[in-house]
Amino acid sequence: MYKAPKIESGSRVIRKLKDLPGRVFVATMEIPWGLLQEQMAWSPDYVHMVTDMDVETVERLEATAPEFDVVVGIGGGSCCDTAKYLAWKRDKRMVLVPTIVSVDAPLTNMIGVRVDNTVRYVGDIFPEELLVDHDLIRKAPKHLNRGGAADIASIHTALYDWKLAAEDRGELYDERIASEAAACLEELDRGAGEVYDVTPKGIDLIVDLFRREVEMCARLGNSRPEEGSEHLVAYNMERMTKRHFVHADLVALGLFCMTRLQENRPDWTRDLLDRLGLQYRVPGVTRKQVGACLATLKEFADTTKMFYSVVDARAITPGFIEETVGRLAVE
Ligand SMILES: [Zn+2]
Repeated sequence: MYKAPKIESGSRVIRKLKDLPGRVFVATMEIPWGLLQEQMAWSPDYVHMVTDMDVETVERLEATAPEFDVVVGIGGGSCCDTAKYLAWKRDKRMVLVPTIVSVDAPLTNMIGVRVDNTVRYVGDIFPEELLVDHDLIRKAPKHLNRGGAADIASIHTALYDWKLAAEDRGELYDERIASEAAACLEELDRGAGEVYDVTPKGIDLIVDLFRREVEMCARLGNSRPEEGSEHLVAYNMERMTKRHFVHADLVALGLFCMTRLQENRPDWTRDLLDRLGLQYRVPGVTRKQVGACLATLKEFADTTKMFYSVVDARAITPGFIEETVGRLAVE
């Protein structure tokens, strides 16, 4: 069942952590923990350093972690997801303190764990208490904070794919949710400058748009409003290279390529990505790899059977690949 989060945002809101009653278990990493300590000396009962989200790692932690009353996730996606896993398994109060707004993990009910290098989602726990501390978040690298915008910009391609699935396959389509999602995209467009500069307004905008996206997807029962063929590009690239990348970079690459396949305002999209500071030229990914990713995309969509999209409706020809990869290089 969807639960709306109580979000406290502002300067120094982390001070509230000191008032938490009972035994407090913190899931964090060296960097966010260090940043928090710089702002506020705090010694909770247990501090656990998160290493990774492999399923064995989180299961082992759950089996060995001491008794606690509140779990606090401090950091990025893995720290929040580790806290979510513990709170879900042990049915405890949870407070999340994102120190970066690069992913929607602090708002979603699902927990991403890795099984054989692939993300699988487990659990069902809607975060109810969030402390969004502007001072803390602004200490993270700007390009990572801007990254949160990628999973909102993805509404653009996702809505196209969703409508296509409704037309071609009779998939359930909800006009009202689609227009609410479109409104989120417009707000992102208008606030792009604040997002780029990682201002308090920009941070709050990202968190608010994540919150609305999560609520919409919960109401609908799937991720159609925000996940489309651009995510297939991201997933296929990780499968192909067996490497982890910054999620936002891969989604931005997916947006760059799929708006072309969709013929869905590719120039507007590229401009939006630039204004948000999202990088679609993924560091460490060669043009050849982008080409290979596109060439195997239909096969990937067929094997994984994730969802119907433009990839099923339009052929990705060698000509399209050459043109897209070429544009990626020069623009
Ligand atoms: Zn995503």
